[in-house]
Amino acid sequence: MKDSFYRDTWAEIDLDAISHNVSSLREFLGNDVNIMAVVKANAYGHGDVQVAKTALEAGASYLAVAFLDEALALRKKGMEAPILVLGAVRPEYINIAARERITLTVFQTEWLEQAALLYQETIPISFHLKMDTGMGRIGVKDEAETKRIVEMIDQHPYFSLEGVYTHFATADEVNTDYFSFQYQNFLRMLDWLPYKPCFIHCGNSATSLRFPEKVFNMVRFGISMYGLAPSPEIKPYLPYKLKEAFSLHSRIVHVKQLMPGEKVSYGATYTAETEEWVGTVPIGYADGWLRRLQHFHVLVNGTRVPIIGRICMDQLMVRLPEKVPVGTQVTLIGRQGDAYISIDEVAQYLGTINYEIPCTISYRVPRIFLKKKSIMEVRNLVLDGKGYV
Ligand SMILES: *Cc1c(COP(=O)(O)O)cnc(C)c1O
Repeated sequence: MKDSFYRDTWAEIDLDAISHNVSSLREFLGNDVNIMAVVKANAYGHGDVQVAKTALEAGASYLAVAFLDEALALRKKGMEAPILVLGAVRPEYINIAARERITLTVFQTEWLEQAALLYQETIPISFHLKMDTGMGRIGVKDEAETKRIVEMIDQHPYFSLEGVYTHFATADEVNTDYFSFQYQNFLRMLDWLPYKPCFIHCGNSATSLRFPEKVFNMVRFGISMYGLAPSPEIKPYLPYKLKEAFSLHSRIVHVKQLMPGEKVSYGATYTAETEEWVGTVPIGYADGWLRRLQHFHVLVNGTRVPIIGRICMDQLMVRLPEKVPVGTQVTLIGRQGDAYISIDEVAQYLGTINYEIPCTISYRVPRIFLKKKSIMEVRNLVLDGKGYV
């Protein structure tokens, strides 16, 4: 689908990077392990359907999202691959899920009783049973309840247990004590089941990359599909090079010279000390470029230039080493020549994790999808003020 936009701020999503990250994992884990591409939250802010398609082409066979609406949105956009909803869905919506062939997570007897009562379809629906091995979020912990759930599913004419899974709380930490504790719990819990369902999975990105021998026959690949390390501390231990897919750009819309003593932005907190060149960039906190990034920097002509004064809702100002033409590209995340601002660097500056950064870049910022052959074509479209969305 082609769409146009007219603002000078956009994110570029390198689909070849996504493809590289998925096919590298496929090679690393071998063909016996199924890859579930985690595309919740609009694919961590990258664009759900484009990422989903790319991941499936590169070797993923299942998609995962957080809630039912995200799964339905993918169906609406034509995605036919199996989709697992990782979070809770109200039992009254089981019929919608069944009609759209969406797999639900089950973790409560009461929920299953309600769902069975409310089920009106005469088509099959699959479940993955979630075990709580120590994450303390959703999942069953009790042997009797586990057995009861499996029994109820098996007795229902249209329900089937397709998978069982758990989630680790510390797979991205160097210390593996708690990971091992949860893994042992999972092994013990699997023994409660009267049979092994088709898919058994416990691996997020960190687990998949660090403990490939412990992932059973499916992994849920999220953050590292987007080219990001699950945590700074395990970055040195990753088995292959990840490629970052997300970059963020804008263009200078106004350039002016300030005289000593002149001020910049709300609160007049910045005062020019000498004659300074200042550029205005049309991105602000409503785009997800948060006010706390005030003293951070961006790239202009391959060098880092500081953000000065308060970040506004839609605009910010930078101090330029010299006068530059209006229209000069600004890179907020990504590369300009040898200069590079990574998502990890932005996350570290904000005191948060890399996951949060692309998720925070709001819907106001159009995503442009780059593929090998189309890069030049798309760049020209950007120059024309048009892009793929
Ligand atoms: C989000 C999520 C994942 C993906 O984790 P990453 O660390 O991004 O790979 C996997 N499993 C569950 C249950 C999740 O909620």
